[in-house]
Amino acid sequence: MLPVNPPARLLMGPGPITADPRVLRALSTPLVGQYDPWMTTTMNETQELYRRVFGTANDATVLVDGTSRAGIEAALVSLLAPGDRVLVPVFGRFGHLLAEIAGRAGAEVHTIETDWGQVFTPAAIEAAITRVRPRVLAIVQGDTSTTMNQPLDELGVICERYGVLFYTDATATVGGNPLEVDAWGIDAVSAGLQKCLGGPSGSAPLTLSARAVAVLERRRSVEAGIREPGDDVSDDPIRSNYLDLAMILDYWGPRRLNHHTEAASMLYAANECARILLEEGRDAVVARHELAGRAMLSGVQALGLGVFGDVAHKMHNVVAVEIPDDVVGDEVRGSMLDDHGIEIGTSFGPLHGRVWRIGTMGYNARKDAVVTTLAALEHALRRAGHAVPHGGGVDAALDVYRVSATPRIPAEVLA
Ligand SMILES: *Cc1c(COP(=O)(O)O)cnc(C)c1O
Repeated sequence: MLPVNPPARLLMGPGPITADPRVLRALSTPLVGQYDPWMTTTMNETQELYRRVFGTANDATVLVDGTSRAGIEAALVSLLAPGDRVLVPVFGRFGHLLAEIAGRAGAEVHTIETDWGQVFTPAAIEAAITRVRPRVLAIVQGDTSTTMNQPLDELGVICERYGVLFYTDATATVGGNPLEVDAWGIDAVSAGLQKCLGGPSGSAPLTLSARAVAVLERRRSVEAGIREPGDDVSDDPIRSNYLDLAMILDYWGPRRLNHHTEAASMLYAANECARILLEEGRDAVVARHELAGRAMLSGVQALGLGVFGDVAHKMHNVVAVEIPDDVVGDEVRGSMLDDHGIEIGTSFGPLHGRVWRIGTMGYNARKDAVVTTLAALEHALRRAGHAVPHGGGVDAALDVYRVSATPRIPAEVLA
């Protein structure tokens, strides 16, 4: 039998993206038992790293083992008791997912919707909060299905005014777009590694404010078999065992109460993702994503392609490119993959067949990845019979990089 031997690919879709080689190395390091002092120290260190990634002092900052969806589900099933009202403003596929998960948790789900390609104003969200009076506002920050980045900075004050817990899914935005958990008054945030953090999917960093922890502690329950005298037993426990954040906090906390077996390799990966980001600096990483995103946007526009949605609210790390009428979207994507080894994304729901989604994130938010993708796209379009300007996309992207380049020798020295 042959070993697993994946093909060489440049992953330029909306995620997953090519993992940073440092993260792949971390994944292949030896396993250590979960109560080994080295491991518990590394878990504590990982919590501190993610406090910095999220911009929070929240003690309750942990990893949920599972993909980003596990983090979303952990937050919603733990914060919402059956019958609780939740408001979900939906501006894309992942908003529908929050509503679906909250509904399965037994919550009374209220949604407001806006057209795909748009975001909500704070006033629209405030009006819905005053009408619904939810316990939780659950909203996606960046919805990769539409590429829109919902402004969150004014929502914390609104939530505080009405006593609403504020949860956001920042899977696709953290690292590539500004996110300030404490400064923006966000009570619960979940994420994943496979977008701007440059890792594989399979670990969901999550943070909770003291206010959020107080809510889920009311349903805290210690399992029979590890329970000690005086431990909580709830008659209305959180409706998931694996994703019970009160239990997960007890496991990550000083008592280290047994829950699941830590997914050690994913912990190493998550730890390395955070280190890579913090070594470069949070602001520098966001700036790198902004630049790569602007170069890709400029490149596809210079190829004469339209861009979907309100570009002023576009996430830095993904662009939705309108598929020209004279080509079949999946054929062009196929030739990008087969002839160039580059993956770009298809789309969901109302955008299926209408746009490709091209990501510039994490390890791939790089000039060479941007221009290679644009060169291949130009070629694939021409081969499919669509006329495109020669070299236009690459030139436009390089122009963006050239204008933004900081000269290594200050201009006054050169003059
Ligand atoms: C990509 C993405 C996810 C991914 O969830 P997984 O469980 O890791 O597949 C979740 N939320 C948003 C907003 C995303 O863009």
